Amino acid sequence: MTSTQSSDGYLDRYQEAVLGVFGRPALVIDHGRGCHVWDVDGRRYLDLLGGIAVNALGHGHPALVAAVSKQVAEVVHVSNFFTTPGQIALAERLLDIAGAPAGSKVFFANSGTEAVEAAIKLARRTGRTGIVAAEGAFHGRTTGALALTHKPAYREPFAPLLPGVTHVPYADVEALRAAVGPDTAAVVLEPIQGEAGVVAAATAYLQAAREVTAAAGALLVIDEVQTGIGRTGQWFAYQESGVLPDAVTVAKGLGGGVPIGALLTMGPAVSGLLQAGQHGTTFGGNPLAAAAALAVLDTIGEQGLMAHAVVVGDHLAAAVAGLGHPLVSTVRGRGLLRAIVLTEAIAPLVASLAREAGFIINPVAPQAIRLAPPLIVTTEEIDTFVAVLPALLDAAHAALTASEPS
Ligand SMILES: *Cc1c(COP(=O)(O)O)cnc(C)c1O
Repeated sequence: MTSTQSSDGYLDRYQEAVLGVFGRPALVIDHGRGCHVWDVDGRRYLDLLGGIAVNALGHGHPALVAAVSKQVAEVVHVSNFFTTPGQIALAERLLDIAGAPAGSKVFFANSGTEAVEAAIKLARRTGRTGIVAAEGAFHGRTTGALALTHKPAYREPFAPLLPGVTHVPYADVEALRAAVGPDTAAVVLEPIQGEAGVVAAATAYLQAAREVTAAAGALLVIDEVQTGIGRTGQWFAYQESGVLPDAVTVAKGLGGGVPIGALLTMGPAVSGLLQAGQHGTTFGGNPLAAAAALAVLDTIGEQGLMAHAVVVGDHLAAAVAGLGHPLVSTVRGRGLLRAIVLTEAIAPLVASLAREAGFIINPVAPQAIRLAPPLIVTTEEIDTFVAVLPALLDAAHAALTASEPS
């Protein structure tokens, strides 16, 4: 069937056929180009969410189209009985950009949660069972990763989960120090908590986490699924702290929209924890995903998109702060992973009004709007959003006030 139907028609069919875990989708997308997408009703939107930090090169980027098209015609899948030049090149490239020491290795998966699952199995191979994660953390939805994710609404329907997981207040060095001991296999942390509302820890926190884990003989796993692949201005957000983790998880931005995840294990000792036969996947590291990821990494590097992310992200933060709008309290985050923090719980309303005005943004929390646009977004595109933001905030505030019982 072709897209001859209206959004409402499609959404009725969606609700009949697709499991309701995501609620009713806000849009039925037809196609995209650059930083814009069009819905099946022909309406255009500036995509300031990038599929949640995934579409690093935007939509229809010629480098990604060429790489994937070429690969799909050559070979799409070979199984892990075999390898391909692209898979090997991607592993080498990831280790290079991560500053990984000799003896480091890559395990390929298909998503962020699978990268975290691999990290959990790696941690178990230390012979210890304790894992320390942070309050507010999001590490995925499969049952292992879900045990590390903090949000009770996500966890509680599936209890009991993997035992041995402790959550400590984020960015609190003393709490971390107190929780880590001889039973701790790993500490798993996001350098910036994306799902919690783009909350960054100070570099000193990651440095302290490195020191605490090293002293306890525990692994330090940094979850870069949302922050990695150039989004915060460096290949990985942990690089700002100068810390070298024992393992790193990546996914979202790596394939530019083609599903891929990876676990990087640092150095020979950590890399030796998982031996032949102890982990696996059918699709992980397939040539199609590898070709996409190599095109993404090449393009980010060649076009200076990390420096660009810093310039445009700083411009965004300054422009929003410069509005001096009473409903904006601050702008958090780094590079092109940002949250506009509001003084009222109107973020969901602002997001739906923004959509009507042709902008895709994300109400990551009741009082926070997350922006994670393609790394190719321009300051001019950002400015079109900043220009309408005051009116969106005022309209949301007015609607909220009108709906409150007097
Ligand atoms: C999105 C996310 C995950 C889970 O990734 P999926 O691809 O959705 O499984 C894990 N960790 C972090 C930090 C994330 O932002």
